[in-house]
Amino acid sequence: MENNLKKETEKIISECQECGLCSNGCNFLAESASPAEMARRGITLEEAYGCALCAKCKAVCPFGLSPQPMFQARRVKAIQNQELDQEEFNYFMPDYEENVMNVYRQYYHIDYRDLEIDESSDTYFFPGCTLMTYSPKLTREIYSRLHKKLGCRGILTECCGLPLHQMGLTDRAQRYTDFLIEKITGHGIKRLITACPNCYYLLRETLKSTGVEILTIYEVVDFPDNSQGNLPKCTIHDSCPDRFEGIFARQTRAALKNYGVEIVEMANILQDSPCCGSGGQISHFRPDLADKLVHNRLEEAKHTGAQILVSYCLSCVLNFARIDIDSELTVRHVLNLLLGVDEDYTDVKKQAAKIFAE
Ligand code: SF4
Ligand code: SF4
Repeated sequence: MENNLKKETEKIISECQECGLCSNGCNFLAESASPAEMARRGITLEEAYGCALCAKCKAVCPFGLSPQPMFQARRVKAIQNQELDQEEFNYFMPDYEENVMNVYRQYYHIDYRDLEIDESSDTYFFPGCTLMTYSPKLTREIYSRLHKKLGCRGILTECCGLPLHQMGLTDRAQRYTDFLIEKITGHGIKRLITACPNCYYLLRETLKSTGVEILTIYEVVDFPDNSQGNLPKCTIHDSCPDRFEGIFARQTRAALKNYGVEIVEMANILQDSPCCGSGGQISHFRPDLADKLVHNRLEEAKHTGAQILVSYCLSCVLNFARIDIDSELTVRHVLNLLLGVDEDYTDVKKQAAKIFAE
């Protein structure tokens, strides 16, 4: 790990041309020193937590360079050196009982204990904490479809653990991963169906030694085709974890086109897509940068003439829906359209904030 980082850092020092292409596509890099300069002098604490860990810089760099691993490593060091108080951000940590999602579900009486669970089922649904917390209607609809189509008879209401990894909490992340592996293998689960790209890619990595198959909902559920209805024109925001493989990007575009939705693309899509502002937990450390990302993306979406901005990641959807840019553009999850379950996400973040203000 340390050797890899050393190699990456040396590569940046020797190969970065300081051409500015990466800074052009990233507000955070635009206000920072060049990657070569940072590699030479080391990463500050503020820089480490200002990066959205979105990897767009790697996608745009002609040499495939990215300072992201240096920021991630600096986060780990900051935790080891106790430069930050972990208590301050426990509120979004999955291993902390009173985290915001658990509290939200308790407050709004959202739970899934009434769903039919068969302990002998080897196929479970893993909705991910954002979807199961903020979109119980979609979560239930997906579960019901998986139940009918695949005989899926189980739902795991855990987080994939991403915030622990992103914050550099390596020990806690490892303990959480061990807990997930024990739970999944203990239930005899052979297949997990995911709806969130963050969960999909992280679980595929952390569970690879277990042989558990990780699938996306888009490859297992039958969606409607050739709708005769008057469908709105859509534009799609691609989510960061899907940047290089594009699995969700392809599957959701195919499903929407098959349904008869007209897609109008923004200028920056697929590998070039910007972060929605929720990556790397920057909304905690740099809310100004997070808001800028949202505003810029909403403007870009507005200029396509689309009526709906969709994403296949609910964190992106919630982040876009929280800001009103005075436009007719509505923000939805792809599955709201494909499953015919409409939801208004405009006030979700406010509803969460309200609980903590009381
Ligand atoms: S795009 Fe690549 S070469 Fe250009 S400044 Fe960024 S890291 Fe350096
Ligand atoms: S990972 Fe994203 S936020 Fe971080 S430096 Fe690269 S482009 Fe900027």
